[in-house]
Amino acid sequence: MDPRFLNDWSGVAGGTPSEVHRPASTEEVATIVRRCQSQNQRITVQGGMTGLAGGAVPGDGDVVINLERMNRIEDIDELEGVMLVEAGATLQQVQEAAAQRGWMFALDLGARGSCQVGGNAATNAGGIRVIRYGTMRDAVLGVEAVLADGTVVSSLSRLVKNSTGFDPRFLFIGTEGTLGIITRLTLRLHPPMGELSAAWVSASRFEALPELLRTLKARLGASLCAFEFMSGAFVRLASRLCDQEAPLNASADWHVLIEAAGASGASAESGASAEDALQAALADALDAGVIDDCALASSIAHRHAFWRLRESIPEVLTHLKPAAALDIGMPWSQTAGYMQEVEAALKQARPDAQHLFLGHLGDNNVHLISGPVDAQGLHEVDDIAYRALQGRHGTISAEHGVGRLKKPYLHMTRSPGEIGLMRRLKQAMDPAHLLNPGRIFDDDKNGDTRCNAEPHSPH
Ligand code: FAD
Repeated sequence: MDPRFLNDWSGVAGGTPSEVHRPASTEEVATIVRRCQSQNQRITVQGGMTGLAGGAVPGDGDVVINLERMNRIEDIDELEGVMLVEAGATLQQVQEAAAQRGWMFALDLGARGSCQVGGNAATNAGGIRVIRYGTMRDAVLGVEAVLADGTVVSSLSRLVKNSTGFDPRFLFIGTEGTLGIITRLTLRLHPPMGELSAAWVSASRFEALPELLRTLKARLGASLCAFEFMSGAFVRLASRLCDQEAPLNASADWHVLIEAAGASGASAESGASAEDALQAALADALDAGVIDDCALASSIAHRHAFWRLRESIPEVLTHLKPAAALDIGMPWSQTAGYMQEVEAALKQARPDAQHLFLGHLGDNNVHLISGPVDAQGLHEVDDIAYRALQGRHGTISAEHGVGRLKKPYLHMTRSPGEIGLMRRLKQAMDPAHLLNPGRIFDDDKNGDTRCNAEPHSPH
């Protein structure tokens, strides 16, 4: 069996599938699903296998449906900026096809070369531009999906507004393949961003960062497109692994990569370019003592070097393996206190491991990487990090999904009413629990015992 069908980036150890199918059309997907339904066979849906929650990892005996051959860009409406695409196209393929026709597909994330737009939709992926363009949910205008009984639901709307009853999109976006297999999508494109400017900022207090972000939102408006924070410890390790110096004194406690684009937005400071507005806002923040230092990228290569450090997560995960990679969310006001509490508890429980924080502050998203830790340690990290969320109005997953890994903690961020509704929808649409069973929550009757959901990071 080709190992690429067995593991994703979560490190969850899966089982051995009975069959692997790589269909080339929606009809082929539907035919496989109908046969599985008649033979009571469980199905695992696979996209680009970059998921970090184990959702695409098969259980023993599962029929795998891998979408990689359904990767055609079918149509681009150049007038309006709408793309019709098969779900197995990679994010990068979609970005490049849009760019070739004078448009931009705004979703962007480090796994762009491998992850598929179907997987992005199934997990409601976020990434590095949410602050300006929203998540995948905001990028999808319509979907076509195959239901658990093999019915094809085509809802490939290309309209921004369509107030005609239930919207099928929302059954499939973020539901991790548990209610249907996404086969095609209509995607909303945007005009390309203007010239990008990037800055690297350091600060000694985390509390300064929400303050800075609030100011930048007010002064740059829609020009602000990224605000990525990293702990000093993350930057020091990334800089060593990438063999690249940090843009500012690496011993600072907190670093932020900020990006702004174009000056055409009406809300940008009047008459100023995005770079001027960014520079002026950062100069004021320096004068006011909010931040300690800042550096503006002086060239495209310089800007790419900033992003190289921020996107070194695969190298960091490999270096710290086995590592826990968490994807927590909470209001800005809670973030500093949360990280202090969790870091102190983790250092006490696992003094030999590194505990690194980074994230997309504008989207309330904090990533925590802890490693190396043994299997017991992976549970300890989860327990410490998720328990500290209680009472903070947060989420155990801001963008990676629940998958197999996080289902024991779902009740910490979803109310019994919400979980009950999820179960009713699953029961109505897939009563035999054949489609991606054991993701998000277990079937009441049959706990999913066919895939060991222990995280064993291969990285
Ligand atoms: P897979 O891993 O193959 O599958 C993920 C889930 O979706 C599984 O449950 C699977 O069954 C289901 N699924 C896949 N395709 C379909 C389909 N066509 N129909 C129905 N269900 C389907 N995520 C972010 O949100 N933001 C980030 O910034 C980010 N950065 C990352 C950086 C790196 C280096 C890596 C490795 C991952 C990152 N991720 C990030 C996580 C991951 O890339 C995203 O979750 C991505 O959207 C998953 O897409 P995929 O095609 O690889 O899905």
